Amino acid sequence: MTLDLAVHEAYRNLTGRDPDSIWRAPGRINLIGEHTDYNDGFVLPFALPQAAYLAAGRREDDMIRIASVDLGEQFETTLAELAPNQDGWHSYLAGVFWALREAGHQVGGADLALASDVPIGAGLSSSAAIECVLVEALNDLYELGIAPMDRAKLARRTENAYVGAPTGLMDQAASTLCTEGHALFLDCRSLEVQQVPLDLAAHGQAILVIDTLTRHSHADGEYATRRADCERASELLGVPALRDVAMEGLDDRLAGLPEERLVRRARHVVTEDQRVLDACAALRSDDLVRLGELMTASHASMRDDYEITEPSVDLAVEVALANGASGARMTGGGFGGCVLVLADQTRLDALAAAVTAAFVESGRSAPATFIALPAAGAGRLI
Ligand code: ADP
Ligand code: MG
Repeated sequence: MTLDLAVHEAYRNLTGRDPDSIWRAPGRINLIGEHTDYNDGFVLPFALPQAAYLAAGRREDDMIRIASVDLGEQFETTLAELAPNQDGWHSYLAGVFWALREAGHQVGGADLALASDVPIGAGLSSSAAIECVLVEALNDLYELGIAPMDRAKLARRTENAYVGAPTGLMDQAASTLCTEGHALFLDCRSLEVQQVPLDLAAHGQAILVIDTLTRHSHADGEYATRRADCERASELLGVPALRDVAMEGLDDRLAGLPEERLVRRARHVVTEDQRVLDACAALRSDDLVRLGELMTASHASMRDDYEITEPSVDLAVEVALANGASGARMTGGGFGGCVLVLADQTRLDALAAAVTAAFVESGRSAPATFIALPAAGAGRLI
């Protein structure tokens, strides 16, 4: 059964009637621009075909009832009971009501049925998908008229304040604002966005996602130390953020930093920002060879300068490149997760088979693979 039908049925089971409508919001993957967001820099995500689906209907009282098809669980609360710092899957949804009301929007209760095929915890942002699909639904149901970027910000506030996860705006901006066949350029300082054409099929190419299934528990601590290094480097360099360091004369400028580690951390961020800009230019001029080179350079920078890769993702990138990929890089926060591979469509099967063989030979589980086509952002289905 397709997920739109699944949530329709779950809604009927929950309420005994049909939903007012059904909404969809996708997961996302970052094409290039890693650890640049908290340095006021640039990112270039695109929306995935995998998405969260929500059947929803207004209620006249202040009750919130949520059925999760995936977990087979139900949750009930009231608007009056909403309070930040909650645990559990339902906090990503209950928190949306809280964030909207805190911002002064008049939302009442609702019945909700949710299902999603965005894999959880794979770095494809299953959390933003479920937040954004609900913001979308409530914006329509209660005719709130909230602009798209503000909808993304409210979804982010849900995750930051209600769930308590200190994330940037990329995931929610991508889930809300992406359009089919495009990547979304986001300037994390000005919040300017641009739709950048990503029509790989027109060139006989595609992006293969390889989920290495590696997840590292120390990722949070490493993330915190990277952030601290970046803050220290920008302070020592006398700029508001590493985004403000120019590429020209970079080596000379960084040579003034007191520690070699800080030089490498700053060099990753500054060069990665430039690679995002170069990737946009490459896509606009149909230069996929250049895009591939930039992806591979991004991986090398994350591996050698930022030190956020690990053996499984390095292996996937190495084997992909040795088997005809035009570019490959880890995507996401690091220490495992997914690798993006740019390649000719005709090579994808052989490439995936080679990576799988290398994983099995080295005693790892076979990775999960899928082709990532740039899909549409959040919206109402019917
Ligand atoms: P991700 O990288 O996938 O966003 P997060 O840890 O940020 O990982 O968010 C995952 C959490 O989001 C899950 O643990 C769960 O609480 C919630 N979640 C995501 N998808 C679903 C779903 N389909 N049903 C219920 N909860 C979900
Ligand atoms: Mg998340």
